[in-house]
Amino acid sequence: MTNRQIVIAQLPEGALEPDHFRMTETPMPEPGDGDVLLRVILMSIDAANRSWMKGATYRAAVNVGDAMPTYAICEVITSNSPRFKSGDVVAAEATWSDYITAPARNVQKMPVSETLSHHMSVYGIAGKTAYHGLMNIGRPMPGETVLVSAAAGSVGGYVGQIARAMGCRVVGIAGGPEKCAYVTDKLKFDACLDYRDPGFGKALAAACPDGVDIYFDNVGGKILERALNLMNERGRVVCCGAISQYDTDAASGPRNLPGVVVVKRLRMEGFIVTDHMREDARALRALNHWVQSGQITVTEDIVEGLENAPAALIGLLSGDNTGKRMVRVGPDPS
Ligand code: NDP
Repeated sequence: MTNRQIVIAQLPEGALEPDHFRMTETPMPEPGDGDVLLRVILMSIDAANRSWMKGATYRAAVNVGDAMPTYAICEVITSNSPRFKSGDVVAAEATWSDYITAPARNVQKMPVSETLSHHMSVYGIAGKTAYHGLMNIGRPMPGETVLVSAAAGSVGGYVGQIARAMGCRVVGIAGGPEKCAYVTDKLKFDACLDYRDPGFGKALAAACPDGVDIYFDNVGGKILERALNLMNERGRVVCCGAISQYDTDAASGPRNLPGVVVVKRLRMEGFIVTDHMREDARALRALNHWVQSGQITVTEDIVEGLENAPAALIGLLSGDNTGKRMVRVGPDPS
């Protein structure tokens, strides 16, 4: 029996394309002592996959010949550890593959759940990133205005819904009128502006008549620059990601730094979701409460088939997803 893997064929210099990936077939991996053999069920597709191809970040760079790393939900097929038995469902650092092996100590057992995909979306990295970034760095107060970019995406959609649940006025930014309608109609943001519209700057200012108290930045670049100009004194800028800068070699940053931060006494703070893992239990309790009470709508965008992972990532970078993008590699355990 063989195992399929998607590896990096060449590193992109400009925008990511299908040719930068190659499907390979390798012998089935053999679990060593203390390891588990895992069947991959769902793989997370993240903007970060692209940034890892640019060099070392908070993790090592991805190089030619490497299988693309990912976070995955898997089924234990063989266990050489007393901690797991075959049939257990676990979360693991994986690669774009049908099967992987991992040391059992690096694998977490998942709670039994009817909707496994929710552990990839609202109860996974997306929901936790939204919660930790907004609550720990943004620190929302009822009545404040929260501005969120990539609002129809995974993290952004949850940020806005949590901010609404906290009693804030929430304004989103997304690409195109359909996405903006989705953000206001389905995710119940108070307003959403299309950053591709020529009148975007004026429309954004009009949608934030009391200024912006918290800007949750998923995109960086020009949109960050505009958001900074709308910030109120003592506002908080949550630096979550900079997707507008990942798929290009021509980075463009805000021109109003550091002046605007000084004059308005802003706090800009970056974070990585795992910085706050000690508070994951609290985040999951709160997210579960908001899902049960209907204040959070779970948004998922599932692409079928390992072979479609490159297209799923390329599409995410150009905005063809709505909600948390993941790839289904195999069926849920029966
Ligand atoms: P999303 O589901 O939000 O998908 C990405 C979205 O970004 C696209 O749908 C697209 O929407 C938007 N986008 C793409 N290019 C641009 C651009 N040039 N300008 C503006 N918007 C753009 O992805 P995620 O929720 O996975 O990630 C969102 C952000 O959160 C990323 O920056 C990611 O790196 C970051 N992140 C950070 C984490 C952390 O620990 N700090 C953890 C997880 C994610 P549209 O059609 O609206 O353009």
